[in-house]
Amino acid sequence: MANTPAEFPSTADVIVIGGGPAGTGALWALERAHPGIKSVLIEQAPQLGSGASNASLENFRSIWNARCNVVMMNRSIEIFMNPDEYFGEGTQLGVKQRGYLFCGMTEKQAAKLRSDVEHLHDIGLSHAEFLDAAAIRSRFPWLNKSVIAGKYDPHAGWLDSYALISAFARAAKNASVLLNVAKVEIRVANGKVEGVQTPSGFIASPNVLIAAGAESRNIGRTAGVELPIVMRPRQSFTTPWRHPEYPEDGPMLIGPPPFPHVRPEAQTGAIFGYEYSWNDKRRRAPGERVKRELIDPVYPADVWKDPRFPSITLYLFARLFGDTTGGFASPQYSRGIDHRAGYYVYRDETAAYEIAADGTHVPYESQRAILDEHPEISGLFLSIAHVGHGIMSSPAAGEVIASKILQQPLSNPAYADFGYNVHFVENDSSGLASDEAVNLQL
Ligand SMILES: Cc1cc2nc3c(=O)[nH]c(=O)nc-3n(C[C@H](O)[C@H](O)[C@H](O)COP(=O)(O)OP(=O)(O)OC[C@H]3O[C@@H](n4cnc5c(N)ncnc54)[C@H](O)[C@@H]3O)c2cc1C
Repeated sequence: MANTPAEFPSTADVIVIGGGPAGTGALWALERAHPGIKSVLIEQAPQLGSGASNASLENFRSIWNARCNVVMMNRSIEIFMNPDEYFGEGTQLGVKQRGYLFCGMTEKQAAKLRSDVEHLHDIGLSHAEFLDAAAIRSRFPWLNKSVIAGKYDPHAGWLDSYALISAFARAAKNASVLLNVAKVEIRVANGKVEGVQTPSGFIASPNVLIAAGAESRNIGRTAGVELPIVMRPRQSFTTPWRHPEYPEDGPMLIGPPPFPHVRPEAQTGAIFGYEYSWNDKRRRAPGERVKRELIDPVYPADVWKDPRFPSITLYLFARLFGDTTGGFASPQYSRGIDHRAGYYVYRDETAAYEIAADGTHVPYESQRAILDEHPEISGLFLSIAHVGHGIMSSPAAGEVIASKILQQPLSNPAYADFGYNVHFVENDSSGLASDEAVNLQL
């Protein structure tokens, strides 16, 4: 890494803990907003991007329901599409803007997709398209005839997440990146951040950003606070084979509930995902309550890999696409699979809830990150709870948290919705998770 310093830094304007998309995105945005700022990024692993991004599908999409996520993703896509301007001449992010196609296979699903698109148009996303059966046939003739409707996001696509993380770090020319830092402790006195203790020494700084994905709660504890996040493991797998009817320039396909998804990968491969309703039944101690989420991560996250995951995902696709022997049912998909797991990190029930008529708090599964200063500790900043979209949101999320650290106004008022204490936002749920997996007895 080009910006590893020759000497251990003893002071910094900002210390960023965590070198995934959130931490490196913040480093890049700090340098852009305040050229020459002295930032230090601390990463525990031997290389950047050593968390959830390794398991991800690296997708991005522009159609979201909550206003704050719409603004955040569309700003990020603008940055992805103009890498020379934002990261320097010749930067390659491997962007493939090939769209997302949400598929409907029954009249009921078609009606839902149509009403989704109407809502998206109402909130200004006029590029979202509803495709009827004829439009599907003419635009995607290789799709099975059982697909009778679609919701299409032409701005969506995917990229190379490691190239993005590297571009962030390289463009932050004045930042120092420290790799292999085994342990950090945030030092706080009189309600204010003083710096970070590492095994190689203390770095004094008035500002510390926690951006360590699933480890963020643990790091917060060193500053004496419990961060309001929980996590669930999620899986993906890549196969080196893709049936020839699904072209290399095809869109990402998302089946109807329970929303299995797949996109072309490289020239002949495919990468699949599927977010089923998770619980820890397989690993709980006898008599222990079954949990649907974890407070603390278990490492390696691979312990949560369900060996049935690839075959169930393929079965779902084959079923949805009416394949019996070919297509997604082809046994070739099961050869040479690379199966991965990582954590989705969410706001917990104290940070995302509605208030019922009787005053009780009703928690909900929020899709909003927390991008804010901690309310009790001055100088302690958070870029956490990036759920299943922390790669696609990372440039704009970096800009939001950089504005907070530098005490500059937010570039869009909607970004205030990522506040620590903002417990509810209209339409704040548009993930791809589904409880229908229960029907498959996962
Ligand atoms: C199966 C799956 C599919 C996904 N698909 C997509 C997708 O298509 N598109 C998308 O945008 N997102 C996707 N995501 C989500 C995305 O990967 C995460 O939202 C994103 O990686 C979160 O970024 P982060 O920087 O907050 O955390 P992470 O990516 O987890 O990075 C955290 C970093 O902090 C480091 N760290 C941890 N502890 C310490 C410590 N004590 N000191 C220093 N450093 C530390 C880690 O080593 C790591 O490098 C997916 C995730 C999974 C699991």
